[in-house]
Amino acid sequence: MSAPVLTAVAWPYANGPRHIGHVSGFGVPSDVFSRYMRMSGHRVLMVSGTDEHGTPISVQADKEGLTTRQLADKYNRVIAEDLQGLGLSYDLFTRTTTGNHYQVVQELFLALHRNGYVQAKTQMGAISPSTGRTLPDRYIEGTCPICGYDGARGDQCDNCGNQLDPIDLKNPRSKINGEVPKFVETEHLFLDLPSFAGALGSWLSTRTGWRPNVLKFSENLLGDMRPRAITRDIDWGVPVPLDGWRDAPMKKFYVWFDAVIGYLSASVEWARRTGDADAWKEFWTDPAQGYYFMGKDNIVFHSLIWPSLLLGQNGEGDKGGQPGAFGKLNLPTEVVSSEFLTMSGSKFSTSRGTVIYVRDFLKEFGPDTLRYFISVAGPENQDTDFTWDEFVRRSNFELANEWGNLVNRSISMAHKNVGAIPTPTAPTAADAELKALARKAFDTVGDNLRRSRFKAAATEAMRVVGAANKYLSDEEPWKRKDDPERRDTILHTALQVVSDANTLLTPFLPHSAQKIHEALGGKGVWSSQPEIREVTDLDDPSLQYPVLTGDYASDQAKWESVDIEVGRPLDKPSPLFAKLDAELGETGPDWAPIVK
Ligand SMILES: [Zn+2]
Repeated sequence: MSAPVLTAVAWPYANGPRHIGHVSGFGVPSDVFSRYMRMSGHRVLMVSGTDEHGTPISVQADKEGLTTRQLADKYNRVIAEDLQGLGLSYDLFTRTTTGNHYQVVQELFLALHRNGYVQAKTQMGAISPSTGRTLPDRYIEGTCPICGYDGARGDQCDNCGNQLDPIDLKNPRSKINGEVPKFVETEHLFLDLPSFAGALGSWLSTRTGWRPNVLKFSENLLGDMRPRAITRDIDWGVPVPLDGWRDAPMKKFYVWFDAVIGYLSASVEWARRTGDADAWKEFWTDPAQGYYFMGKDNIVFHSLIWPSLLLGQNGEGDKGGQPGAFGKLNLPTEVVSSEFLTMSGSKFSTSRGTVIYVRDFLKEFGPDTLRYFISVAGPENQDTDFTWDEFVRRSNFELANEWGNLVNRSISMAHKNVGAIPTPTAPTAADAELKALARKAFDTVGDNLRRSRFKAAATEAMRVVGAANKYLSDEEPWKRKDDPERRDTILHTALQVVSDANTLLTPFLPHSAQKIHEALGGKGVWSSQPEIREVTDLDDPSLQYPVLTGDYASDQAKWESVDIEVGRPLDKPSPLFAKLDAELGETGPDWAPIVK
């Protein structure tokens, strides 16, 4: 039996549309992985949603002249549409402003509180002297007290990775208007992170196969675990279910706290929507495995903080305790983090205008070229510059020339000469060798995909394509007019390998895989795509929102070589990948920023 798999995908923040840097971190890798896992027989639950609380939402809402709710509604829909366009096969992509999410967050908090892992503490909080409004940590900038980096934020230093308190920053200033913040006393709840350090250390020491940078980064932070505030002075967020807090208009859970619990709440919402409210448990308890996908700026939340919340909820930190309402929950099997996709050496930046939005990209190039580029040339292990030159080169040479051409000429020749999948006769050593290479690739590509080594997996799959092209050039079926039996055997071999390579490439290229399935005479759904459904909130009938979901379990695509059916009629195929203008490689499209 294959273990059920939870694919937990980082929650995009709903303050604007997503750019291709975002989806190269959390989006495409998680979908390639999930599609492979489903194809190889695992039950998969892939969940996420938009992260909609916190001050940046309020700040952006002010900017756009909307209420926070209107702003969240707007970008929840924009982001859901972008991810659908990319073909990300979420079982549920929801949001953090649902009644269900509020209940799950509060329930999990109560377990932590009962088990003694939450303490109230009075601290100094920053306010803006000019407006009197609370100034959140991440809107305060200054010099890191630990490493001296000058661009440290109040909550975290991006240079050394340490969590910070804004009051410890040297030369603090407001990122909104540059003024020096004023610190006043305010009471907050803190998660007792140090009491999980021991359990986290033992757990991390059992993690094998993680990308080394993720493990090392996490282990380095273990030594400096400090209590971390889980509440904020803010009116936009999940209320704290304790007397004295519940009705306080300016006390809510800190956005990071409610957002990480989203993996659980989205699983619960998915289950409630299937009609079996307990169906989520299969994906959160043994023998289920949980894989978490994100960009590297989010590692700490997934490798230390979310596991701490789970340990506390389970009653497994230094203070012990009893499992909460959800029972004992699994910690992550693996935290899969990507590095950054950059442009001219810097992170994508909306404010600097160095940004390529998913929507613009899809409109011009379609989803599979972007999915392929991110998989084979993305920031899997190191920061990677996006260049149009590389994108055009990969699309033209690898997708159009190598793969598209192999599919097109194999099917065209069979269509023209036979009108159907031809009958093979006496195979030669070359035929057998090529077929064996394709069959063997299911193990090597599959093994790489299981370990989230997407570059290696895509490269191995494309090796089969290269070998098949070489085979056709060597065997020259177009010169075999006098020997139709041999010609048909060559074409049969080529079509079998096209079919196998199509299966191997399905996780990366699910849209074109469906087309190739049909071009090979197949019927029905090979690899399905997510759809947007308008739903009513399960706990508040006055709220409607779009979710991304789909029925992927009945896809025909399985991770195995299937013998093609002799005699199946073949139509004349149409080209799969349009060849891009080489000039595009120098300038990019006119809507895009110049990449140097
Ligand atoms: Zn630092």
